[in-house]
Amino acid sequence: EAKAKGRSTTCVFAPEMEARLRDRLQIESDLRVALAEQQFALAYQPIFNLETDRLCGFEALLRWRHPERGLISPAAFIPIAEETRLIVEIGAWVLRQACRDIASLPGELKIAANLSPVQLAVGDIATTLADIVRETGLDPSRIELEITETALFADDQRNLDALRRLKALGVRIVLDDFGTGYSSLSHLRLFPLDKIKIDRSFVQDMVDRPDSAAIVEAVTSLARRLGMTTTAEGIETAEQLAVVRRIGCTEAQGYLLGRPEPIAAALETVRCSARVEIGA
Ligand code: C2E
Ligand code: MG
Ligand code: MG
Ligand code: MG
Repeated sequence: EAKAKGRSTTCVFAPEMEARLRDRLQIESDLRVALAEQQFALAYQPIFNLETDRLCGFEALLRWRHPERGLISPAAFIPIAEETRLIVEIGAWVLRQACRDIASLPGELKIAANLSPVQLAVGDIATTLADIVRETGLDPSRIELEITETALFADDQRNLDALRRLKALGVRIVLDDFGTGYSSLSHLRLFPLDKIKIDRSFVQDMVDRPDSAAIVEAVTSLARRLGMTTTAEGIETAEQLAVVRRIGCTEAQGYLLGRPEPIAAALETVRCSARVEIGA
């Protein structure tokens, strides 16, 4: 077919395609200076334990304050940072900053940070984290690293070795966004995970859709059977909170309970929540 068309076939770039490509290249080159120019910041979203109704920690979420474009969502720039492997350096900055910030908080509070599969595949994340733990004096059992299922894909030996070395430091490994993408229950046997975060798409459908509620319930009891805890992500309503509480999820996170906010505001949340009563 292609051969028959031969020389008569021409390749035309649509102007929008060209614009998109230029945009991407610009973001890529801007990303290269963003760390040095201190354009990154972390936002901290509170996580609550549903058995005690207490604040139990924060998830650190990366923010990029671009000098011209303003705030850029991580969903927009992390894929580019991964392709260029800049995520290795950026991710190390996230871990160091999050550990520094949390080191000054009460000892029972944990810090969760997201880890890109590229950080497992490239460089030596375990040594980086060991250095950070030493620098900050933070108890590693207070650190949770959130990975997605792609990090466990294809039984990739290098990724699994990196995870094992991280785990040997005493940190907890959490499976994020469970139920999205190419989920497979066999992923749960590849590595001894500590916790599963149930994706907000299930949590948010739960109240209206019995099938979503059934999935959340099944994942929660499966996790329990496998010796793991669960976090329900994306709780936006009191109704959703009541359902995940009834189902028996261990922890909850979402806009209803607290939005991601700068460290100063997070510290204020801690100060005001000697005992935080949530939900009905
Ligand atoms: P994630 O790890 O699943 O983080 C949860 C995302 O859901 C955050 O979006 C958070 O702001 C948002 N969220 C929390 N509660 C609610 C809610 O009640 N309703 C709704 N609609 N959304 C809620 P954010 O901060 O935009 O981050 C998006 C994703 O970017 C994260 O998803 C994570 O995969 C990635 N990401 C963020 N920071 C980092 C990082 O430092 N490193 C890496 N590799 N990825 C990161
Ligand atoms: Mg996460
Ligand atoms: Mg998540
Ligand atoms: Mg998610």
